[in-house]
Amino acid sequence: MPFFLIITLLFDFITLALMKQLFIFSLLIILCVEVYTQLPEGFVYIVDEIPLVHSDLRYCHENNFVGNPIEGYQENVLILTLDATKALKKVQDELLKKGFSLKIFDAYRPQRAVNHFRKWARNLNDTLNKSVFYPDVAKKNLFKYGYISTRSRHSSGSTIDLTLVNLKTNKEMDMGTPYDYFGKESWVTYEGITDAQKSNRNLLQSIMIKHGFRNYPQEWWHFTLRGEPFKNQYFDFIIE
Ligand SMILES: [Zn+2]
Repeated sequence: MPFFLIITLLFDFITLALMKQLFIFSLLIILCVEVYTQLPEGFVYIVDEIPLVHSDLRYCHENNFVGNPIEGYQENVLILTLDATKALKKVQDELLKKGFSLKIFDAYRPQRAVNHFRKWARNLNDTLNKSVFYPDVAKKNLFKYGYISTRSRHSSGSTIDLTLVNLKTNKEMDMGTPYDYFGKESWVTYEGITDAQKSNRNLLQSIMIKHGFRNYPQEWWHFTLRGEPFKNQYFDFIIE
């Protein structure tokens, strides 16, 4: 067999093998992406439906009452049921016209994150962020007063924690307490705050309620969709 023919055949063989490998590799990538982004039926990434929303998923990093990233929060992405997201989009559309935006702190929360809170609450020596988030509550009372529980409405996928941003200053509006502050100061109707803070709280409450959400009287930031689709179902898929 002539030398150049051997070289050509060899070249063809290598090219074919490479193409095969490339094909298999691409297929694997497509498969991985598909597996990664597949949410349970009825759930969506909020940013896909409400692109201009501000967000800061607190449990994904250290700035929260535990002081560490929480189990199940692997990516800084917000997931919610489609029904709740549609209602939230109406809120955001109305806010944008008025020069405000929503800023979301938490949405769907996996059950394993709630389990992490429980585990953390039992360890009374771990008080890393106490001075910021629960200065006046003894850690041993967090269960008793209902700040930590065994289930969370967030795990059903239609409950959300949020505040407002003023688009002129691009800053969060002053609601009288930080997000996730454990104390009566966070109650929606708490009287010991300024008129401006009350008015900011009222704006958030009224617009959320107008578009189908129910508030939680003890936390100004927490809302659940009325008629939520997965009531009393607690999901545990990872946020990624
Ligand atoms: Zn909440």
